[in-house]
Amino acid sequence: SSQHPPTFYVTMWRDLIVRGHWSGEIWNRHKDGKEYAAMITIGGVRDIHGKTQHYVALLTDITLVKEYQKQLEHLAHYDPLTHLPNRVLLADRLRQAMAGSQRHGHSLAVVYLDLDGFKEVNDHHGHDVGDELLIAVSHQMKEALRDSDTLARIGGDEFVAVLVDLEQSQDWEPVLTRLLRAIANPVMMSGVVLQVFASIGVTLYPRDDADADQLLRHADQAMYIAKQAGKNRYHLFDVAQDTAMKTQQGSLDRIRQALEQDEFLLYYQPKVNMKTGRVIGAEALIRWQHPERGLLSPAAFLPIVENHPFSVELGDWVLDTALAQLVEWRAQGLDLSLSVNIGACQLQQSDFATHLREKLAVYPTLSPDYLELEVLESSALEDMAQVTRVMRVCREIGVRFALDDFGTGYSSLTYLRRLPADVLKIDQSFVRDMLDDPDDLAIVKGVVGLATAFRRQVIAEGVETVAHGELLLALGCQLAQGYGIARPMPAVALPAWVMTWRADAAWTTWRDCGRSRSELAVFAEVEHRHWIRAMGKFLAGDQDVLPPMDGKKCYFGRWQSTEGQACYGKHPIFSVMVAIHDHVHLLGQELVDLHAQGQPSEALERMKELQTLSDDLMGRLRQLVRGEDT
Ligand code: C2E
Ligand code: MG
Ligand code: MG
Repeated sequence: SSQHPPTFYVTMWRDLIVRGHWSGEIWNRHKDGKEYAAMITIGGVRDIHGKTQHYVALLTDITLVKEYQKQLEHLAHYDPLTHLPNRVLLADRLRQAMAGSQRHGHSLAVVYLDLDGFKEVNDHHGHDVGDELLIAVSHQMKEALRDSDTLARIGGDEFVAVLVDLEQSQDWEPVLTRLLRAIANPVMMSGVVLQVFASIGVTLYPRDDADADQLLRHADQAMYIAKQAGKNRYHLFDVAQDTAMKTQQGSLDRIRQALEQDEFLLYYQPKVNMKTGRVIGAEALIRWQHPERGLLSPAAFLPIVENHPFSVELGDWVLDTALAQLVEWRAQGLDLSLSVNIGACQLQQSDFATHLREKLAVYPTLSPDYLELEVLESSALEDMAQVTRVMRVCREIGVRFALDDFGTGYSSLTYLRRLPADVLKIDQSFVRDMLDDPDDLAIVKGVVGLATAFRRQVIAEGVETVAHGELLLALGCQLAQGYGIARPMPAVALPAWVMTWRADAAWTTWRDCGRSRSELAVFAEVEHRHWIRAMGKFLAGDQDVLPPMDGKKCYFGRWQSTEGQACYGKHPIFSVMVAIHDHVHLLGQELVDLHAQGQPSEALERMKELQTLSDDLMGRLRQLVRGEDT
């Protein structure tokens, strides 16, 4: 392809000549001229005199992964309907604008717009007309702004504009008047005249000396006041009044008291494998049994404590309670794992891992991998370096991590690669609407594709119906959580639920042997080679750790008994492969024993036999997968 500079090939050839092998990602071209991306390993084959005779390349086509990447990057930053920046890009632009304002000493305005009367248009004329109207209105708004300003769509009929470089603090007023007029401009659409208005809230930085999130929230609050005051108008956020309100610590104090008086409790929502019908675990979700207001969900009180040190104390209570519950259930014979949500503040504590270790030490019989911590994708990105460090240490203890609400804070593949999370949890907003919203479906598909590519587990939340589950299975996602399976319930109710729940037949009878499966076979192949290489290194004394000796525990073995069995189980080649693989492990064990008995050179010599078996196994695997694909 024309995508790499000549130096790329120079380096590649240098590696090939000097080291005898090269591996990496490369854009290549088929004979018909079509470009494709490949993950490739090239090795030189030498004759007995050490002269290179030819080269062998093993490659995986990763064009699809690259496409997912591109699609996701666009989806991640732009609203598909209006092509305006979305919330993610807005956050970025706003931060830049704030930095610019500090440098140049100018003000900026954050403007929150909500359309009035849009819902009626949708209801009377249908969503298509509504969509067109949104496009038209967003054009008009853009016209009313300067090129340097940002206009973003952040929800159905909600927009945010960032006006930069305001020299006088009143400079924003004529712009907003222009905006209101532009929005109220009647539009002719499918033969009818449509008109909407806007309620606008605005706050000025640095007069409102807050961070980006707070600025948005303040503008939103001001918008709400504009709306209540009669719409088609704007309202400026009142900094002084807000400060006064914040000093009223009333609600925070009440929440503190609630913890002392034991008014919090945990509900549990099951997580299942739809395909096997197994309940794999549960997620702990906090509730507040308020003496006057009844059972409150987290949205009613977590935001108040969110950025406050008290949230760490509350999070601590959640962890303790959840762990005790998990131990009790396991003692009753329930084979469950438990997920606990961890707030941003909690995770950023430098002693988080030490604390967790102490908590786990109270239950020496509990294997830490039954505990999974859910971290919001957005909070993981807030302080990448620190969070990554904490996650690493926790994972060494054996605790697993999931990135919660995945897709909402998505920023870059590099980050994802660096974050040591085991599971991606697709945000429920995408799952819920994926049945009829192609953009949401594209995101779900993209996330499943990403999870496969990075070999993370993927679970969907917000599975409300059987149909959601079926579609997820087709996309390759088997794990799920949602009202369609069970609502969150008190701890006492869970054991009985687990005993009686049956997965829908539409789920358990699902069969899929599509291309994602052959991709998994590719991973199995590569992992097996890795295993053989590790054996060789161990016997040669180059490495101390053995790869998994149990043939059921190595990656290939696990693939064989799950996806492999499901897709190829009936094929005669498959049963031969199972036998060869068993043989590989038997022989492997024999060599390790020889090595232990002080005959390392004999053991090393017999690696050849192992290699021959392995080559045979791989040959058959390819034959099998190729046969399935055509
Ligand atoms: P989350 O971690 O994403 O939890 C899933 C939320 O989605 C739960 O709301 C659950 O009840 C709801 N849900 C589950 N299935 C469905 C469905 O099919 N449809 C719909 N519409 N909703 C569904 P909940 O319990 O209100 O919790 C909201 C959020 O509060 C959680 O979102 C989590 O971020 C946070 N949270 C809950 N408990 C804790 C906690 O102990 N600590 C921390 N830091 N955050 C918590
Ligand atoms: Mg969660
Ligand atoms: Mg979630």
